[in-house]
This record gives sequence, structure tokens and C-alpha cells, in this order.
Amino acid sequence: MSGLEDLYREIILDHYRSPRNRGDLPCPPAHKGEGFNPLCGDDVVLYLLADGGVIADVKIGGNGCSISQASASMMSCAIMGKTFAEARAINEAFKNILSIPDVDSNGQDVGAGETGANQEVSLGDLQALQGVMKFPVRIKCATLGWNVLTDSLDELDSC
Ligand code: ZN
Repeated sequence: MSGLEDLYREIILDHYRSPRNRGDLPCPPAHKGEGFNPLCGDDVVLYLLADGGVIADVKIGGNGCSISQASASMMSCAIMGKTFAEARAINEAFKNILSIPDVDSNGQDVGAGETGANQEVSLGDLQALQGVMKFPVRIKCATLGWNVLTDSLDELDSC
């Protein structure tokens, strides 16, 4: 198991040191969203260029801890070229893997059966962030960029 955790740590550090899709996009036509995590001092800026319900381009700005910035970098790769609906499905699937497992009074995981709902969504590198759920205070770091994505898609949908 530790081999897998090493691999996951490597993936997170790689995205932190070499963030993908870093930069900005002119607004308009792009949409700018921003989120803060005061607990950790994280700041994620998300630029989305939409073209007919498809995310045509993504750029990420901001600063913060390795988890928040690596998660935003991975998110930019995951949603590039996707439709809004696909991006929302990835967002939901990612949050599902971070949720604290439902445990009944016998310590049995009762939530395991529900994960099948998102099997068609491929999370790829995002699986690496699953270990964050062991550290509840870091979950806000991991989900910061994704909450900005939700807000941005909602605003773009209402245009
Ligand atoms: Zn953080």
C-alpha cells in the first residue's frame, strides 16, 4: 500500500512543481472565477473559455499549498475540452472519492455500494488526491478549485 501512496505523493508534487495550464485568459470572452480557503491561505483563480457548452480552454492562477494548487492543476487537465455536463460529472465523481466513508455501528463501510454510479467517469491522476480524505482539514484545499468550477459553470449556464 505504501508503494501506491508514494506514487500518489509523486503525482501531487509533480502537479504542484509543474502546474498544468497555468496563466490567464482575456475576460471577456473567458469567464473568471476565484475562490479562497482562509483556513490555509489558498487562492485559486479559474479562467474558462466556453464555446457552445464545451470548455474550449482552461487556465489556472492563484497561490497556495501543494494540495490546493495540485488539485487545480489536475482539474484543468480533467475538464479541458469537456462539455459542461461532463465537467460536472467529473466534479461530482471527484468529490465522491473525497467523501468520508459512511460507517455503520459495526464499523462496516455502508457507502461502498454507491460508488458504482460514477464508474464511467475516469478520474486518472485525480485518484492521487483520495488520500487527502484522511486529513479532513485538507479536504477544503483539495476541493477549492472544484467549488470555483461549480460556481463558474452555474454562472455560464445562466448567461
Ligand atoms: Zn491548502
